[in-house]
Order: sequence, then C-alpha cells, then structure tokens
Amino acid sequence: MRVANSAGRAVIVIGETAGDIATASEGRFGPDMMSVFDNWDEFCAFAANITEGTDALDMSSLQRPVSAPQQVFAIGLNYRQHAEEAGMEVPEVPATFTKFASSLSGPFDDIPIVGTAVDWEVELVAVVGRQADNVSVDDAWSHIAGLTVGQDISDRKLQMAAGRQFSLGKSRRGFGPMGPWIVTPDEFDNPDDLALGCSIDGEVVQDARSSDLIFDIPTLIAELSSVLTLYPGDVIFTGTPSGVGMARTPPRALAPGNVIETWVEGIGTMRNTCV
Ligand code: ZN
Repeated sequence: MRVANSAGRAVIVIGETAGDIATASEGRFGPDMMSVFDNWDEFCAFAANITEGTDALDMSSLQRPVSAPQQVFAIGLNYRQHAEEAGMEVPEVPATFTKFASSLSGPFDDIPIVGTAVDWEVELVAVVGRQADNVSVDDAWSHIAGLTVGQDISDRKLQMAAGRQFSLGKSRRGFGPMGPWIVTPDEFDNPDDLALGCSIDGEVVQDARSSDLIFDIPTLIAELSSVLTLYPGDVIFTGTPSGVGMARTPPRALAPGNVIETWVEGIGTMRNTCV
C-alpha cells in the first residue's frame, strides 16, 4: 500500500489514482496524516478493502507524507564507505541526531540554498507505525508503517561550526524533503536491500544499496527503542551512502538552479530544485 499527503489530506495511492482516506472511511481515519499513523493497525485493516482510487493523482499536490512527527531521528555515518570518505570512525552505536521537524518539506518543494557549503544526502527513511519500547530486532519490522525517500540536506559549514552538534546544520528551512509517499514493508521483496541514489542535474552522484547499512532498520528500531519511546509517525532518516559533495576533490556544493532527483527502489523519485 502507498499512502500520501495530498494538499494536507491523507490519500491512498493506487496506480495513477488517489482515494481520500477520510471520505472513504466516513471520517474514521484522516483527514490529516498523523491521525492515520495514530490508528495505523486499524487503518491497515480498513484499507485492505480499498482497491481503487476516486480521483486522478495530482503529483504537484503531494506534500511531505508525515506532516507533523513528534520525533525526527537521523543517523550519521551509517554506511562504511561514507564514514571513510568523511574521515570518521564507524561508531559502535548509531550516531543519532535530529533534523528539527520544521525543516521537513515535500517531495517536489524547492530547497533554499544558504551559503556555499550546502550538500546532498540521499537516505532511506523509515516511518514508525506502532509505539515501540524495548523492541527486539526480530519484532522491529512490525513497528514500521512504511518506507519513503528522503534528502538530508546539510549545511556543512553550520554543521561543523557547532562542535559536531549536527542538528542545526541539518535543519535549515526546506532541508528535509521526503516523499513522494510511504510504501508499506509488505510491498518489497526484501525491504532490507533496496537500491537508492541521487543525481544533480542528471549526473548520478550517489548510488548504493540499503543492504550496506551498518545499523539496518531493525537494528535502529531496537537500539533507539532501548533508550526511548518511538511513537507512531516518528521519522527515521537512516543515513547516507558515499558520494556526498564535501568528500569530493575539490569539494562540491549545491547552488541555486541545481535540480536534485532522489530515488529509492520500489518507492519512487523526488525532484527538488535549489533556489
Ligand atoms: Zn544524513
């Protein structure tokens, strides 16, 4: 199942069509996305009976698929080659920081560039569907509503200027595009092995597989939920593979006019223009 946020209303996406969840459920779920996550198990049982949409899907109306998460986690240095290109040790526990929720944006939104050190980071993003406390690795996937595509846009200058407290440099306005929709885990042959990548003006700059994650999604759920509570709708940016701009010689940064396309196998592609 694919669930999207169309102009502020939760919809099910089926092929080229969309079905408004609040309308279809006569107000039981929706219209906002967060109320769908709050009742995720019941919603999934209801949605299994919906086989076609009622409206043509308007891609330009799609907003970030999690409108207002309580918590946004991001994981640094979670691919070995990226840790090497960043010149940093692979951590023993997930190197967890936050993107403040106000930085989240939609799959086709513009990215405002500030300064000369703004970088790209394709990431597979997991969305929590069931409250998680001390969840085991084996039980972790049952706590995931689905997966989506993310860009952990990063102002490297601000990121490094803050004593390696990454969160501010990762949270400028518009620095967290995500979407175009959430795909439930059952849709994938193997949700732990998905191709992901991004291109700048058509040139592929990152190309990897999520099976190369150091801490995979079940391990992240287990590690995070051993420390704190994960709530429905919480967002986890799982980390970026190698190929970021700061590791290049000379370093490369995003500039106004650049178009970033970001994809994950089995989910879809975002397209964001730098302004
Ligand atoms: Zn990142």
